[in-house]
Formats: sequence, C-alpha cells, structure tokens
Amino acid sequence: MPAAAPALELRAVERHYRRGEEVVTALGGVDLSVRPGELLAVLGRSGSGKSTLLHIAGGLDTPDSGTVMVAGVEISAMPAAARARLRRRSIGFVFQFFHLLPSLSVSENVELPLLVERTRASHARASRDRAAAMLDAVGLAHRARHLPGELSGGEMQRVAVARALVTQPALVLADEPTGNLDSVTGASVLDLLTSHVREMGAALVMATHDPAAAACADRAVELSDGRLA
Ligand code: ADP
Ligand code: MG
Repeated sequence: MPAAAPALELRAVERHYRRGEEVVTALGGVDLSVRPGELLAVLGRSGSGKSTLLHIAGGLDTPDSGTVMVAGVEISAMPAAARARLRRRSIGFVFQFFHLLPSLSVSENVELPLLVERTRASHARASRDRAAAMLDAVGLAHRARHLPGELSGGEMQRVAVARALVTQPALVLADEPTGNLDSVTGASVLDLLTSHVREMGAALVMATHDPAAAACADRAVELSDGRLA
C-alpha cells in the first residue's frame, strides 16, 4: 500500500513583501514535510517568518513561488474559492489573540465553521450537537451562552481550540497559541490542544516561543530570516 500523503508539504516556498523601495523576504525558500498525525513545533525569533509560514500553509496567503500541498492536494494552485472550501473542511486555526467573533455566543463561535459548510437544514441539529460536544470536551459547556468578552484569556483560547477542532480537520495550525496567556494557563491550553489533536489523529504545526510547547511536539524546526535551519 502506498504511504499516506504528508498532511502538509511545502516545496521551495518563497514570500516577499514590498515595503517602499525595500523588499522584505519573509520566506526565502522553505521545504517542509509534516506526516499525518505529527506534532511539529516551529521556533524562531520574532520576524523570522513563522506567521507567514502558517498563513501560507493554511491557504490564508499564497506564496510568490513554490508549492503547498495539504493531504496531497496542491492548495497553492487552487482558485481562491476552492482553497477556502478546502481550508474550512481540512484545516483548523488557533491564533495568539483568539480571534473569536465578539457578538456571537461561545457556542455560536464553535458552531460557525460547521454552519458555513452546512447546505441542508437537516444538518442543523447535528451541527449544534457537535459544537456542544466539542465545547464540553474543552470543559466549557457551562459557558455556552456567554459572549467571548465575558471569558478569561485561557477560556477564550479553549473556545478557539474547540472551534479549530469541531470540523475534525486533518491539519491544525496554531500561531503562538500560548503567547498571550500566563504560564499556568498556557500549559493547560497546550495540554488540551495537543491531547485532542493526538486523539483525532490530526497533524499540528505550532509556531511558538514557549519551550514547554516545543517539548510537547514530536519534532521542532527553527526558522531564521525566512529559512529553516
Ligand atoms: P514571525 O511570525 O516569526 O514574527 P512574520 O511571518 O510575521 O514573522 O514576519 C516575517 C517578516 O515579514 C518580518 O520581517 C515582517 O516584518 C515581514 N512582514 C510580515 N507581514 C508583512 C506585511 N503584510 N507587509 C510587509 N512585511 C511583512
Ligand atoms: Mg508571528
């Protein structure tokens, strides 16, 4: 049987930004392969290209050159609408500053990725049940009707983890998920994220400064000036 395609594969990925006359190289030719179910930490100082790498891996941004494959599908060559569909179905994101929608309740935030995909009214109940189960799994069932602004930072990030995982994505991308949390809260969010990712068999690519986060990963790579050391 042929081996499964990598969960994520970047080949010779470059991304340059123009800043006035100057060209900033955010990614200067990155090759990276992440196995299905693998937990990878991406280290590197601020400005080394970690966020750019995650945005490109998740199809939120496109490379200037090179290819990006998610579960064997080349997303870098897809039209924007198809890329967005694949992103919604196969990729979950967790951000440093949570990015919850402030006017939606906690349960609505978690259900949102399912609502966007839902085409038939008969799925309404299933979406609600899945969101409720996911919220329960991150220990926040009792917060379902609250607004994000009523939660602590750690609780908001747990909601963001539930939202990222509710579609059972093959690939989870986390950009400094503990960067805005104190160390105790960060450790518990990290434990929650990695244990659920492992249980689901998803792959995780996590940009982090946090040595504890790197220690939870199967492998760590380091970015320096847009290149992997
Ligand atoms: P990190 O997440 O490791 O801090 P980033 O990927 O955010 O690094 O940034 C990599 C480099 O690209 C930095 O020099 C940053 O200033 C630059 N950069 C990122 N986004 C933009 C942008 N939209 N316009 C111009 N430069 C950018
Ligand atoms: Mg960043």
